Amino acid sequence: MTDRLYLSPPHIGPDELALVTEAFETNWVAPVGPHVDAFEREFAAYVGAEHAVALSSGTAALHLALRDLGIGPGDEVLVSTLTFCASVNPILYEGATPVFVDSERASWNLDPNWVEDAFRQRAAAGKQFAALVPVHLYGQSADLDALAALCERYGVPMIEDAAEALGASYKGRSPGTTGRAGIYSFNGNKIITTSGGGMLVTDRAETAAHVKKMATQAREPAAHYEHAEVGFNYRLSNVLAGIGRGQLRVLDDRVNARRRVYEAYREALGDLPGLTFMPEAEWGRHTRWLTCLTIDAEAFGATPEAVRLALEAENIEARPVWKPMHLQPVYAGYESIGGAVAEDLFARGLCLPSGSAMTEGDIARVVEAVRACAATAAA
Ligand SMILES: *Cc1c(COP(=O)(O)O)cnc(C)c1O
Repeated sequence: MTDRLYLSPPHIGPDELALVTEAFETNWVAPVGPHVDAFEREFAAYVGAEHAVALSSGTAALHLALRDLGIGPGDEVLVSTLTFCASVNPILYEGATPVFVDSERASWNLDPNWVEDAFRQRAAAGKQFAALVPVHLYGQSADLDALAALCERYGVPMIEDAAEALGASYKGRSPGTTGRAGIYSFNGNKIITTSGGGMLVTDRAETAAHVKKMATQAREPAAHYEHAEVGFNYRLSNVLAGIGRGQLRVLDDRVNARRRVYEAYREALGDLPGLTFMPEAEWGRHTRWLTCLTIDAEAFGATPEAVRLALEAENIEARPVWKPMHLQPVYAGYESIGGAVAEDLFARGLCLPSGSAMTEGDIARVVEAVRACAATAAA
């Protein structure tokens, strides 16, 4: 039996174990400590934000970003439909109403034209969205300047879900640093990991302080336990922050490795009819966190699901592109604007194993299994 090839497994660098050991040796085994402080400083410097707050997950980071805005029942939040459910669940945690928006083909991310339509519609009715949550999918930034200009014009705060896009760039900036706040994830499948964890970044000192407070049970500055608002237990462990510091040191290597994996797939599969790789928009660097493609079943000779099952038979994990949120039973009944592009990408999309530790042999295994599915293979 050959080893299983995972979609995006963890890839630990040379320093992580020593940093974790340091946490043990200094007895900072707590959701506070020098690694947490250093990880926040180093992360903020890497992405170019004023403040960073280390949290237990990307979902927790998004939850607190929305809570800091004061979002609640009666508020509408405009959010990408093509995403993972964690972009949307925190909107529901706060009792607000998600409104889903379609993607554009250039980046697979939020289409600014649909966003403008939605903003204009609400303005005509004398209403306004409480926030816009663009998602930077699969390692690529959305069109931030276009979205930021609309947010500015209509007075809508932007909270960026950059969970999948750490290491990417948009006109030289990091996705996640344009809006009022941005969030990242260090789950085990992301481009760097702390096993589980997240980060919120912002240039607003008040937001950073409020988020840190809410993440630690909202304790007021008093020796006894004094509370004036509801808090959460969302801080990142100092042990895990040690892993994060080590991972941040190798982040650029990981981006380069993932881009090399993508290049290898493109060279080995690019000649097959009916296969189209996710485009890299002209505005910046795509990390290729996952190599994604769409398959035209007729031209290629097999459906994306047939390819996925053929890979599975070879002990290779592949996944469909995210199922749009407006098609999810849990979000049935919420308004959806556009939707045809996201639905098409879901119907035809497939994500290939993309781990930064993949060898040439690993890539060759995937390539061989995909090529065997193509109509030309039978000829
Ligand atoms: C992974 C992910 C999240 C959530 O991050 P966690 O750390 O797993 O909570 C949010 N949004 C997107 C788009 C993600 O891919």
